[in-house]
Amino acid sequence: GFIRAPRIANLEISEIVQLTEKAAVLKSQGHDIIALSTGEPDFPTPPHVIEAAHRAALAGKTRYPATLGTAELRAAIAAVNGVSPAEVIVSTGAKQVLANAMLASLADDDEVIIPAPYWTSYSDIVALAGGRPVVLPCPMTRGFKLTPEALEAAITPRTRWLMLNSPSNPSGAIYSAAEIRALAEVLARHEQVWVLSDEIYEHLSYVPFTRFRDAAPELADRTLVVNGVSKAYSMTGWRIGWGVGPAALIKAMGAVQGQITSGASSISQAAALAALTGDQSLLETRRAAMRARRDHVVAGLNAMPGVVCPEPKGAFYAFPDLSRAIAAGGFESDAAICAWLLDQAGVAIVPGRAFGLPGHARLSFAYAERDLEEGLSRIHAALDVRL
Ligand code: PLP
Repeated sequence: GFIRAPRIANLEISEIVQLTEKAAVLKSQGHDIIALSTGEPDFPTPPHVIEAAHRAALAGKTRYPATLGTAELRAAIAAVNGVSPAEVIVSTGAKQVLANAMLASLADDDEVIIPAPYWTSYSDIVALAGGRPVVLPCPMTRGFKLTPEALEAAITPRTRWLMLNSPSNPSGAIYSAAEIRALAEVLARHEQVWVLSDEIYEHLSYVPFTRFRDAAPELADRTLVVNGVSKAYSMTGWRIGWGVGPAALIKAMGAVQGQITSGASSISQAAALAALTGDQSLLETRRAAMRARRDHVVAGLNAMPGVVCPEPKGAFYAFPDLSRAIAAGGFESDAAICAWLLDQAGVAIVPGRAFGLPGHARLSFAYAERDLEEGLSRIHAALDVRL
């Protein structure tokens, strides 16, 4: 057929998007649906950020931006990270930073180590860029975290990247400084392996958070840090993320970006600058609100039959183990129980297989308290009847 590019052969529409769209269709047909499936804070973008965007547009910042980002925003990001602006690229969301990095660095069949559970897009972006995702399951019993032994065993001469995400979507796991050090010691022995450290949930940590570069400065010349404003400042729709890494990599990523988007929206960059340089007290307020929701959701899940939910240390997802509920309820899989919950209880949550770790499901708690309350009580009631 016409649509035959080998790079999209295994590419599918994200299960998260599919589920969210199905929930939206059911809702529009009049069904009473609670969707707890999306990774997006329900808080509004702060007003001072919106005003900065408005001012920028009126002041004529409506022309093509510099490909790597505006000088002001790159300087602000460089200052936060203690690097020079040449080590910073601004992109259309953190997602495009990931895509730029993979497109710029991977040759066919180069391997990328992805500890599971992982954000669904990691494996798809690697595959889209022609690389091979090497998924390493990291079970709940090990806190959903990669061990140095598992990392060592997975490295081959073709390994190019380790993708780390702390705090993690979907598990909420956070790597301590000691855990980062242990991984860094393995990586020190394998110079061909770079680290992509996705720290986009940094400001949504409920225990002390350690940046990869702070714990492993000796690897800075092969580390790319990914971050952005989407989650911390409730700016998912503005599409601004950034990468911090060695200047040569940043330059190559800029060459990719220049042919795909010409750079991120100038107005959104003005908004992101206001977010980074304005009042930061909202980060603490919002983190406290998310933390209260987390406590509520984790307690609610653990009170259900067949459900075990460890406490997420960061981000805004619960990732309970449903394996006992799946077995006791006679379900075929995590996907089957999630489909049944949408049908029977009108609650949308995402099966663990979408994150490379079946037997679990992801429930976002970035929703209003009353929706969380209602969603939890419906799941609980449905399980009570079935189990
Ligand atoms: N990285 C992780 C771990 C995420 O969960 C997400 C969004 O879901 C992103 C990156 C993408 O963020 P952005 O909106 O900046 O593209």
